[in-house]
Amino acid sequence: MKVKVKLTFFKSLRFRIMVLLVIIGIVPCLLTERVIVRSYESRAVELRKINVKNQCDILGNQLMEEGYLEHQQSETINKELSLVSTIYNGRILIINESGRIVKDTYGIDEGKYVLSEEVIKCFEGEDTSSYDKKNSYIEQTIPLTDPKSKHIEGVMLVSTSTGEIVDSIAFLEHRGSLLMLAICLLVVVLGFVLSKVLVKPFARVGKAIEELTDGYLDEEISVPDYTETQMISSVFNKMLKRMKVLDDSRQEFVANVSHELKTPMTSIKVLADSLAGQENVPVELYQEFMQDIAVEIDRENQIITDLLSLVKMDKKASELNVEKVNINEMMENILKRLKPIADKKNVELVLESYRPIVAEIDEVKMSLALTNLVENGIKYNIQDGWVHVTLNADHKYFYVSVADSGIGIPQESLDRIFERFYRVDKSHSREIGGTGLGLAITRNAIVMHRGAIKVKSEEHKGTTFSVRIPLNYIA
Ligand code: ADP
Repeated sequence: MKVKVKLTFFKSLRFRIMVLLVIIGIVPCLLTERVIVRSYESRAVELRKINVKNQCDILGNQLMEEGYLEHQQSETINKELSLVSTIYNGRILIINESGRIVKDTYGIDEGKYVLSEEVIKCFEGEDTSSYDKKNSYIEQTIPLTDPKSKHIEGVMLVSTSTGEIVDSIAFLEHRGSLLMLAICLLVVVLGFVLSKVLVKPFARVGKAIEELTDGYLDEEISVPDYTETQMISSVFNKMLKRMKVLDDSRQEFVANVSHELKTPMTSIKVLADSLAGQENVPVELYQEFMQDIAVEIDRENQIITDLLSLVKMDKKASELNVEKVNINEMMENILKRLKPIADKKNVELVLESYRPIVAEIDEVKMSLALTNLVENGIKYNIQDGWVHVTLNADHKYFYVSVADSGIGIPQESLDRIFERFYRVDKSHSREIGGTGLGLAITRNAIVMHRGAIKVKSEEHKGTTFSVRIPLNYIA
């Protein structure tokens, strides 16, 4: 449990913001410290070289004027040489034209020969200087030029220690480290506080959602702090609205179902009670009431059958039993089955097929959907009317249109006829055995096949339903 809490913290936005702030705060400081120390070092070394060169240039001129390369007895020169080498904590070697050391301020290498690259370069007229960081010293060569002939007759090889520069750098680095430590602490504390403040609106969104789920379903959440939280809130509110609509429609459906199922029951109860309450009831009355009771039971049965079909349709589309079906044959069968009902009203049933059609559909469900349309065409028709069914197809879809010469649907009801239990004229529909579920079943089946249904109607003239279904089923 503890490990999990730790892991979620590392995965949190807050932790990431904190890390980001720490990186942004510390890395530039570290870089600045490095750059300052390095530039101080190179500047200090440069200055040292210039100072040494200036002093040695003057010293070299004096040296040549007094012919020091030939005889090194001059007290003043010797003193000055040892003074300069002491000031810079270094060593000065005077080398004559043949490469022999004529003076060493350490006094150990006099008489020896030096023919290093730097010395040769200096004899050729090129000043050299190099900084040995590891051993902390600077080595410079200064030419000793004859004042008259301007000929280089010797070289002064000066090594000076950079001990104090190294000490100053160490001091700077120490101070820098202390400062860095303070900055680090400050940045971590700031990062901790800032990250908490920055992610607060998100926590607020979570809390608001939690409060809503705890019960106040009628409210909306609003966290306008950031564009992002505002977006999450509005998306959540949209979802909430949809949930409410769904919840309302579910409640309405349950209320409707109960009401519809209760109506036949009430009739049965009234009929049975009136029989039970009378004495010496004639057999004819018994038979009549029993027939009425049987009609109500049939009705109850019809409602339950339709409800079951609707529930089945509400399940996932994957439950479709899709196969290649000859649509012309299927339509002919539907009309054949409905012929007896049409004959009762003397309604003419006509099927017009423009081409043979084979499509990938669930035959049972599609057949139910189309049967409902044709059956409605007959049920809501006039005596001696007609129902025309046309079948057509293109390369993508097949089209079924069911037109009738019936009573039509009022314009204001057109949008609602696909709702469950909706009937334009409740009592008329009941009389002819309608449950108000037929078109809901039809539309569900068509939507499951990724098809579409449209309706056009004119009162007292007739209604046309147009259906479009893809020839190939797309899962
Ligand atoms: P019902 O079982 O009542 O027929 P439906 O869902 O099939 O239920 O139809 C809903 C309502 O739409 C019907 O009650 C009826 O008022 C109207 N309706 C459907 N089809 C037609 C049609 N072809 N002509 C006129 N009215 C129709």
